[in-house]
Amino acid sequence: TFPGAIRNFCIIAHIDHGKSTLADRMLQLTGVVDPRQMRAQYLDRMDIERERGITIKSQAVRMPWTIREGERAGEQAVLNMIDTPGHVDFTYEVSRSLAACEGAVLLVDAAQGIEAQTLANLYLAMENNLTVIPVLNKIDLPAAQPEKYAEELAHLIGCEPDDCLRVSGKTGMGVDALLDVIVRQLPAPVGDVDAPTRAMIFDSVYDTYRGVVTYVRVIDGRIEPRDKIKMMSTGAVHELLELGVSSPEPVKSAKGISVGEVGYLITGVKDVRQSRVGDTVTINARPAKEALGGYKDPKPMVYSGLYPIDGSDYPELRDALDKLKLNDAALTYEPETSAALGFGFRVGFLGLLHLEIIQERLEREFGLDLIATAPNVVYRVVMEDGKEATVTNPSEYPVGKIAEVHEPTVRATVLTPNDYVGAIMELCQGRRGVLLGMDYLSADRVELRYTMPLGEIIFDFFDQLKSRTKGYASLDYEVGGEQQADLVKVDILLHGDAVDAFSAIVHKDKAYAYGTSMAAKLQKLIPRQQFEVPIQAAIGSRVIARETVRAIRKDVLAKCYGGDISRKRKLLEKQKEGKKRMKMVGRVEVPQEAFIAALSTS
Ligand code: GDP
Ligand code: MG
Repeated sequence: TFPGAIRNFCIIAHIDHGKSTLADRMLQLTGVVDPRQMRAQYLDRMDIERERGITIKSQAVRMPWTIREGERAGEQAVLNMIDTPGHVDFTYEVSRSLAACEGAVLLVDAAQGIEAQTLANLYLAMENNLTVIPVLNKIDLPAAQPEKYAEELAHLIGCEPDDCLRVSGKTGMGVDALLDVIVRQLPAPVGDVDAPTRAMIFDSVYDTYRGVVTYVRVIDGRIEPRDKIKMMSTGAVHELLELGVSSPEPVKSAKGISVGEVGYLITGVKDVRQSRVGDTVTINARPAKEALGGYKDPKPMVYSGLYPIDGSDYPELRDALDKLKLNDAALTYEPETSAALGFGFRVGFLGLLHLEIIQERLEREFGLDLIATAPNVVYRVVMEDGKEATVTNPSEYPVGKIAEVHEPTVRATVLTPNDYVGAIMELCQGRRGVLLGMDYLSADRVELRYTMPLGEIIFDFFDQLKSRTKGYASLDYEVGGEQQADLVKVDILLHGDAVDAFSAIVHKDKAYAYGTSMAAKLQKLIPRQQFEVPIQAAIGSRVIARETVRAIRKDVLAKCYGGDISRKRKLLEKQKEGKKRMKMVGRVEVPQEAFIAALSTS
């Protein structure tokens, strides 16, 4: 296709403002999806995406469109639409999708107005020099206030309220006019057709039947079906098995794809890590000298221990993680053993949603029953002798003289109606947040910017924010630098032995609260033993909290008054069964259920 006829755009919005639904209407209006096959959120293909109603993986679709009205009526164009994920954990994918486009449709729910991710996505679009088309969606809703929010949106991006289009992704109202505007206002791609090929990978998906499908946008040159391609970050060379475009079903391309075009490549690799988002593809016979900028290795930010509740499921858990990893370059894990929980894995995630999604997929798609330890961030510990340790598991916190502990921070943006500013400030201060600035976006909508430890955000911050603002505040954050902090490791000891799964790294002001609540919880959950069991919380050798489980003297048989043999046997059987799921911590026998209960209520 002639580059002048191509328009590459993405739809960006806060979660639930209607991206996927608008994409559906575009698929229908341009005729690329047969009306009989149409279903809601057509592009959300994973079960979990469909059930949660969220988009996790980006999608690209090629659609024809002919301008219907005005002086350029009849002009034909090829639109490449890239539907992006909206959540903070996947910001890197959003930013790669944006880099593949010349323009962005900025969608705002006309009943909600601007939210935190509206801003975050708009800033990303501006950083990528995209032309932004402001659109108010859901104007069919009785609660829609298009006038009010057009003003807000216009103020934000510096245009006139009348420049904001009004559509309904649900009824389709205004969507054809939006497609016209996309062709008229967005610039066509520019690139050097004769230069050595450079194409950016903006998505990479593992498919059981086809292997890894890699989505690229050609920046310079072209890719043809018989080319051998080369990944510029690793130098790996692959044979092309298939080259094509999604419309939205795959269509093979015999002629190849050229400057500005978006397509997919299949090479037979079996693992998305060999074809990573952000990498540059070139042609082996005539390679480009320099890769396109912006490539980033996905880096796990949050770690948690995942253990099968039934220890014999361990091999299945390993296989399941291996399978998920084929499609998730950001997922990392290594085996780990815990005295309390047995054999499991320490798993690294991009963020909390990523963690939740992986855990849910393991349980649902692979039928595993899992217990997860409380999530923690990555700490850098500097010892007095200058040695350094990276800690991804609190129970591996170094012993000895510690000079400094560093923790990751984030720059958080909270958008809220006026009324909740006080409540939010209180919450953020309680989480060691430092206010960077505060702006009024309109008379009643405030933007608060904070630097905050990531470790404080992953611990129910979002739930607290929602409950303190009746759901009205929205949150977005990006990774900041690291900072030094007064952090300590709190151990929980049973009869003098530390229970690894409960060790936590917390700020020293919160150590006492963590210690007392954990000790109290376990005191209720741990059954009495033949001897008294102290439960202590300690920082190093200093005990900061204590509870006691008192001893029992009688064994179960004492209840039987010597008589009935079969009843005795039954009791013994029962006791044996219970023992199977007992874990020993030092001399103390603890049912695994107690650990699970203590972890799941924390
Ligand atoms: P996304 O998270 O931005 O992809 O949002 P979705 O497309 O999944 O939409 C979120 C919810 O809003 C769904 O329940 C949609 O049915 C609903 N929705 C989307 N667009 C409209 C619209 O134009 N009007 C109304 N009334 N509801 C809409
Ligand atoms: Mg969606």
